[in-house]
Amino acid sequence: MTNNRMDGAHFRLALTPEGWKRNVSVTFAEDGIISALEEDGNPLGLPVYENPVVPGITDLHSHAFQYAMAGLPEVRRNPVDSFWSWRDIMYFFALTLSPEDIRAIAARLYLGLLKGGYTGIVEFHYVHNDLDGSQYGQRELLSLAIFEAAEAVGIDLTHLPVFYAHSNFGGLQPTDGQRRFIQDIDGYAAMLDALKPVASAKGHTLGIAPHSLRAVTQDEMSSLLDLRESLLPDCPVHIHVAEQVKEVEDALAWNGRRPVEQLFGMAPVGRRWCLIHATHLNDEEVGMIAGSGATVGLCPMTEANLGDGVFRAVDYLGKEGVFGIGSDSNISTCAAQELQQLEYSQRLKHLERNVLASSGQPHVAANLWNRAVQGGARAAGRPENGIAPGGMASFVELVSPEPGSMGAVADESALDFHVFAGRGFHVGDVCVLGKKVLSAGRHSGEDDILAEYAAAMSRVGKRLAER
Ligand SMILES: [Zn+2]
Repeated sequence: MTNNRMDGAHFRLALTPEGWKRNVSVTFAEDGIISALEEDGNPLGLPVYENPVVPGITDLHSHAFQYAMAGLPEVRRNPVDSFWSWRDIMYFFALTLSPEDIRAIAARLYLGLLKGGYTGIVEFHYVHNDLDGSQYGQRELLSLAIFEAAEAVGIDLTHLPVFYAHSNFGGLQPTDGQRRFIQDIDGYAAMLDALKPVASAKGHTLGIAPHSLRAVTQDEMSSLLDLRESLLPDCPVHIHVAEQVKEVEDALAWNGRRPVEQLFGMAPVGRRWCLIHATHLNDEEVGMIAGSGATVGLCPMTEANLGDGVFRAVDYLGKEGVFGIGSDSNISTCAAQELQQLEYSQRLKHLERNVLASSGQPHVAANLWNRAVQGGARAAGRPENGIAPGGMASFVELVSPEPGSMGAVADESALDFHVFAGRGFHVGDVCVLGKKVLSAGRHSGEDDILAEYAAAMSRVGKRLAER
């Protein structure tokens, strides 16, 4: 993509960690970090943004290929459909995709994410092997497809190759449907080793991801943490945990301990960790996670779609817990929709309105957006400051489809309007680490990205029809 570097910008209205500020000049360092922020009259003559500007959110959890199966599992095929029957369809789908398909799907998804308020992506990548489960000649081939997709779009990538070895607690043998995901520790180490210099050269962050406590034994967890220490010290560590009631029941049946309780017993969970979902928690577990400095990776649209349950957001935020949002199955590519769903799940549960505002920020959307910026960046191993010195020069210009009708919307309500008013979420310019990647809502490579995605879906459709 073209190198569209910006040295800075002047915002008429910007959401900073302290709330909305007017007439803000920000300058960007070479590394894509905000070097200075001044409230002034734009003496440097920086490019001016009249529309409200918010910091870009890092989408902290995605399985890119699932974007292409969105809509397919919305048909009842069992007396009671559940996460587990959805997963059967997802496995079936994962067994049809080539490296070219995965690259094209990921690029299309990442383009959509840029238009949905995200400027970074954490890809929790578990499809590693060829269709028959054998290794590719180059074992990191599918990770490289993800790298290429992120580079084509210009989104900030944190890549997490997933370690996946078992089908349930107690080190049970994997199923045939999981054959593209399975690794052993040596193979996983070799893959990270091969990816490390490439990620470094391309500016991507690399982390590790034990898939879940179902998929990893205690010994394997220890080996993974040793490997992290030697190869990627202090890198992000993400794991799915306590998403489903059945997972909690299976954990209790296995050794009498709940999943989050087990995890804290197995590993030094701390600030570099991200616990994906953490839906089913008891009081003690809420406190353990909040006190650890780890991020909870909420995926509100996917959790609703899969019937996972409702996160204990009020209790968790009451203990100053950190959270971010992920698009997970990618049925939504819009950060505003994820945050709306998060707030609405709490309204339905607590029978109140404006549940996730805070004493410092009574505007729900602004409160949730800033927290998701911080949590997403933390989970990605990136600077957490938002639009402030030391933060990433990653921002999103909010555009109204009917600018003339915005007269009654106060500046402080700008984001509430874009998140809750139901007029769609529309962006103008989007900047990632000091580089403009969307101009007036469009990407310079957009036509090619859409054409390659269409070609991939045509191939996938033929393969699905043949099976
Ligand atoms: Zn996931």
